[in-house]
Amino acid sequence: SLELTRAAGGGRKGSLLDTIDRTVTGAGARMLASDLSAPLTDRTAIDARLDLVAHWADDGIGREELRATLRAIPDVARALARLSAGRGSPRDLGSLRDGLARAWELRERLDRADVPRLLTDLLPALAGHGALIDKLTRALVAEPPVDASNGGYIAAGYDAALDDLRDAGGMGRREIAALEIAFRDRTGIATLKIRHNGVLGYHVEVPARAADPLMANDSGFTHRQTLAGVVRFNAPELHEVAMRVTQASSHALAAEAAHFEELTALALASARTISATADALARLDVASANAQAAVECDWCRPHLVDHPCFDVAGGRHPVVEAAVARSGARFVANDCALDQSDRLWLVTGPNMGGKSTFLRQNALIAVMAQAGCFVPAKRATLGLVDRLFSRVGASDNLARGRSTFMVEMVETAAILAQATERSFVILDEVGRGTSTYDGLAIAWAVVEAVHEVNRCRCLFATHYHELTRLAEKLSALSLHHVRAREYKGDLVLLHELASGPADRSYGIAVARLAGMSPAVLARAKSVLAKLEAGRAATGGLAAGLDDLPLFSALVEEAKGDPLREALDAIHPDALSPREALEALYRLKGVEER
Ligand code: ATP
Repeated sequence: SLELTRAAGGGRKGSLLDTIDRTVTGAGARMLASDLSAPLTDRTAIDARLDLVAHWADDGIGREELRATLRAIPDVARALARLSAGRGSPRDLGSLRDGLARAWELRERLDRADVPRLLTDLLPALAGHGALIDKLTRALVAEPPVDASNGGYIAAGYDAALDDLRDAGGMGRREIAALEIAFRDRTGIATLKIRHNGVLGYHVEVPARAADPLMANDSGFTHRQTLAGVVRFNAPELHEVAMRVTQASSHALAAEAAHFEELTALALASARTISATADALARLDVASANAQAAVECDWCRPHLVDHPCFDVAGGRHPVVEAAVARSGARFVANDCALDQSDRLWLVTGPNMGGKSTFLRQNALIAVMAQAGCFVPAKRATLGLVDRLFSRVGASDNLARGRSTFMVEMVETAAILAQATERSFVILDEVGRGTSTYDGLAIAWAVVEAVHEVNRCRCLFATHYHELTRLAEKLSALSLHHVRAREYKGDLVLLHELASGPADRSYGIAVARLAGMSPAVLARAKSVLAKLEAGRAATGGLAAGLDDLPLFSALVEEAKGDPLREALDAIHPDALSPREALEALYRLKGVEER
């Protein structure tokens, strides 16, 4: 639901990957997608990636040179995959030859004293296939074809026997050309041609109107085929030369195929180290591409720490920012500062105000940082996240037999069961999918549980203003809202986060922005006035909730459950079947009490 590598519509367009991808090779793009799908949790490994990005962010010329070189390198990994699946072609062998040779050259250029550690680690993988490159260079023509069936991919001079076969074929073809001239002279038919096809092989072809003299028994030609405009013949001299040509070329094809097999086997014998070279190239591509994106989009290097904090200054949502920029507007950057003493932010504000965007941008910043990318912010200090949970949007699982609300509850339940103190959770409008009372009640209990039990860093967006009362009871929860103003009767969304709760929800003003008819709006306003009057009289939806004990108190209570205590006292391995049965009866007794 964070649309990391695929957007909500299913395609790549509009995803995080699509927006930040500046890689220049297929393997680089695949590696970036896998980095985003599997962020790291080892700080040293993340810092190693970030060092490499920083290296090329600082060195614009080096970055451009590297990217130009990488752009010209064939996809070694794909070629190797096709060859090992038995679907390889001479062109794949050519790709290996060129890719490995360029990787070798790249190593020579990058091998300097002042490079980051990860680069020093990658360099050995770039070289080391000298014998294979040499063999492929001698064996293959410069541009081997994809289709092996016509041969012509083994270079002249590599195999003397193959060269002889080719000479024989070439000589034969020259003899055939000479025969054509001789036949024209002999028959006086200037339009006579010698042609070749798969059915007849080499044959003489003349226009139908000139064919009669060749039909005669003593003409030296044998009739083979009559078509609409042409008649085809054979001739003994032609037959004899054609036999030689066909034999030579089929032997040559077989010889080339044998070389192809042998060269493929040779390459596959080094498959593991070739893969390592391909991976090293992809890693260079990803790092320099991330540096390119960081420079283009003004991103910063995240500072990763071990304690659970999340301090982002001037954070932006890379995908929404790009979309907003396309429409000529400016994205409003927002800060987010969570730590152990202020770890749960309750974000309120009008619809369209930017709550979801704020939640998602911070989750994306966590993913990007731990994937080893710079992040869209001015400054970011991030405590490593062990697991990232998001309950956002209405994922459409109807086809899988779950209603929107059911999906929301299943996902929230999973988060409550799994999030740890080192996790990062974003919850967007939990409880909105059911009746107001149920929804508020669930949202209230979820906020308490996250605060008291999971104790993770959490951003919680909601329209239930009643929840803001929780700030008085929960010490690590703070209130924030996205700002909006009404100007001359129109709603102005500022997309700016401020502390404190929102003063009102502006739902009707947003409906007006959306073009709802004045009659419906007027009616909604009068219904709202009535509801608000009722709320003032009764103390509102959340009246009396302040007196409830906290969720943690309930958890403590649940811990004092006699049934659980009795269960804990039983050690199944130490029981005889009879004792087990008695224990079961005892438990049943406890339960019924
Ligand atoms: P709702 O409560 O209806 O779900 P919301 O408060 O979650 O709304 P978002 O969906 O986050 O609102 O944002 C709505 C739109 O506002 C975005 O699609 C984007 O165009 C714009 N927007 C959001 N945040 C910003 C921002 N920081 N700067 C500029 N535009 C923004």
